[in-house]
Amino acid sequence: MLSEKEHIRYQRQLILPQFGTEAQEKLKNAKVFVAGAGGLGAPVCYYLAAAGVGHLVVCDRDKVELSNLNRQILHSTKKIGTPKSDSAFDTLNTLNPEINIVPFNETIDNNSIAKMANSAHIMVDCLDNILTRRVLNRYSIKKNIPIMHAGIDGWNTQLTLINPPHTPCINCLFDDAKDSTEPKPVLGAVAGIAGTLQALETIKYIVGTNDISNTLIYLDSITLEFSKISIEKNKNCSVCGHL
Ligand SMILES: [Zn+2]
Repeated sequence: MLSEKEHIRYQRQLILPQFGTEAQEKLKNAKVFVAGAGGLGAPVCYYLAAAGVGHLVVCDRDKVELSNLNRQILHSTKKIGTPKSDSAFDTLNTLNPEINIVPFNETIDNNSIAKMANSAHIMVDCLDNILTRRVLNRYSIKKNIPIMHAGIDGWNTQLTLINPPHTPCINCLFDDAKDSTEPKPVLGAVAGIAGTLQALETIKYIVGTNDISNTLIYLDSITLEFSKISIEKNKNCSVCGHL
């Protein structure tokens, strides 16, 4: 049941076609694990909190740095030096004190992920490295929890729903990907678009409006051209091939 205050807070989305009270209650009862509170995680956390996702778990192991602030809009200059997870909690709790926000300031690995993502409806991949994406991927397959994946590469953005065995897994898509230690170029607005699309698709997945299974959404932010690319499982995938 929504409270009177919740009816007012979410009034403008409650009157949306294909939304309404039922969808709002699904959001309220949902648990979402957001992996990373950086360039993608900032808009994801903001919009999921604002929309009323009832249980938001946010993990980031890093502290806020000056060079983060061109894009990581959850954080601010006065938060430099504090853990991003704490900074995220403060910002989101100020925005929406009606929801339950749980921050974790630690590395996501095969052991720690269980306490963060346990019983989550969906995990949101706001990571910047393939190593941790593989941790999410394994947990996703083990526990049957889908991943809303996004990634940015310069001006380009990609987005898809990972939900094995119905879709490819992260390993099917990025089998030979490796992490680089060089700083990656990124404009805040591009990360903002990517994270906002991720938040939108996460909300749509929870309320059951639609989903982007087996489709990779690709956006060139220079030309503003969107492409939808069909993707398929790799039957010989070493991670999900047995499913
Ligand atoms: Zn796979």
